[in-house]
Amino acid sequence: MPVAGKLYSAQTLPLILDFVNIVNNIDFNNRGIDDDTTGEATIQILKKVRKIAYRLNSNHVSSLGLHPIVYFYSKDGRYKTVSFLSIVDLVMELDKIKKVNDFIEVREDFEELVLEYDYLLQQIYVKYRSVQKSYKYISKFLQEAIICLKSKKTIEETIDEVLAVQTFQYLTVRKTIQPTDSSVEDFNTNRKSEIYIKETFKNIPQCKICNGFIHRNSISFDHIQRKADGGLASVDNGQITHPYCNTGYKN
Ligand SMILES: [Zn+2]
Repeated sequence: MPVAGKLYSAQTLPLILDFVNIVNNIDFNNRGIDDDTTGEATIQILKKVRKIAYRLNSNHVSSLGLHPIVYFYSKDGRYKTVSFLSIVDLVMELDKIKKVNDFIEVREDFEELVLEYDYLLQQIYVKYRSVQKSYKYISKFLQEAIICLKSKKTIEETIDEVLAVQTFQYLTVRKTIQPTDSSVEDFNTNRKSEIYIKETFKNIPQCKICNGFIHRNSISFDHIQRKADGGLASVDNGQITHPYCNTGYKN
C-alpha cells in the first residue's frame, strides 16, 4: 500500500508507547511504574504486547486478521493512530467478556459500518481532542455497534441505536453524501489515495467463514469438509479464512 510509509513518521514512537501502555493497563503518564532491575517485569509487559499483536494481524492461530485498510486508515489513506488504539482496546474488551465470537458473527456488517461511518469515529476524536482521551469512547461506540448488530439490527438501525445512547448524542449523521469538488482537473494526493483504496477493495479476498476482509499477512487454509469427516487436502476442498475463524471460532 503506497500510504503505509506514513506509519514510520515521528508519530510512530508515541503510538508504540501508547500501545504498550494500553495493553498493560499502565497510566499514560507512567506514574507508579518502578524501575525494572531484573528485566522480568519488562518481559511480562512485552509478552502481553505480543499476544495482542498476534491477535490483531498475524498468522498465529489466534489472529483475527484485521485488515489495516478497514480498521486503521481513513478513506483518503491517512493512518489513524486513534483507530489503532481503539481497536486494541476493543479486542481486549471482547476477550475479557468472551464475546470475540459475537464479533465474528457480525463482522461483515461491522466492517461495512466502520467504512461507511468512519466520520462518526472522527467526530468522537474531535470532541475529546486527543488520542489518549478519545480511544476508550471510540472503542465503546464499536462495542455498542457489535451488540446491536448481534441482535439482528441493520447497519442503519444500529447507528440510530448507538447514537441514542447518552454518551454519543452529540454525534451527527450526514444526511446526504457531500459532493466532492469535481471542478478541479488534476487529482490531488488525497483524491489519488481515495481512488487507489476504492480500487483495492474490489480485489481484497473475503473470509469464507465470516465474510470479513482478509489481509495477506493473516491467512489460514481451511478444509471445507473437515479432515475428521474425510475431507481431503484437494484444491476443491480448500478455502481461505482468517486464522481465528478456522480454529477458535469454527471449533
Ligand atoms: Zn473470518
